[in-house]
Amino acid sequence: MRRPILTANWKMNMNSAELTAFTGRFIPLVANADEVDIVIASPFTLLDRLAQQIAGTTIQSAGQNVNPEESGAFTGEIAPGMLADMGCAYAIVGHSERRTLYGETDEWVARKAAALLDHRIRPIVCVGETLEQRDAGRALEIIETQIRESLARIPRDQAEQIVIAYEPVWAIGTGRTATPEIAQQAHEQIRKRLSAQFGEAGNRIRIQYGGSVKPETVYDLMSQPDIDGALVGGASLDPEAFARIVHFQSQRTQ
Ligand code: PEP
Repeated sequence: MRRPILTANWKMNMNSAELTAFTGRFIPLVANADEVDIVIASPFTLLDRLAQQIAGTTIQSAGQNVNPEESGAFTGEIAPGMLADMGCAYAIVGHSERRTLYGETDEWVARKAAALLDHRIRPIVCVGETLEQRDAGRALEIIETQIRESLARIPRDQAEQIVIAYEPVWAIGTGRTATPEIAQQAHEQIRKRLSAQFGEAGNRIRIQYGGSVKPETVYDLMSQPDIDGALVGGASLDPEAFARIVHFQSQRTQ
């Protein structure tokens, strides 16, 4: 049985006052959500404060990015050990915004994922096709290549530590969620690829869906056999909405 994981991706949003307002509302709302993992990926600037505010809860923090190097002359970058120092349990790598806006390649994502594991931080590895690629009938092929290449440096005995986020680029921040059926088809393909790469461990790796997830859509997505969680952007900035997503079991609409 794979434990559900709900991750907030705050992107370049929130300051310290907004963080405090968020946690003040959110923490009591999820106090009894003990059957899921709850992760908040805040901007680097808030990680220390976030760690203090979630201390004593089951909520865990995550970086939104990392540089694979240990230290050195990399102005503006953050090393895996620095995230560990901030108490991060997870870090997002290969988000489509980083792939498209900053030219990140599968090889670079693979280095980041491996470097995180060296510091006992679980990588959340994002993959997903563009609308153009989907319309050309290439969605599954693209996802498969991204999985194979982005996970190329993950040792088999650590495979279970990773989390995959399937995020079709056309669904991110657009209000256009993939139907549960489209998402399940991609997740099933990812699961097959993970099993081919990591054997039995592939069945235990969690795969989150991401792309305009809302309280109203989360239940049907989470009901699919290979969808084990959600990576949530916009809706995660609202403590009530993200708490409803965490309580996805009670969001059934019909
Ligand atoms: C994301 O940032 O990973 C994301 C899925 O954003 P949104 O939920 O806003 O589409």
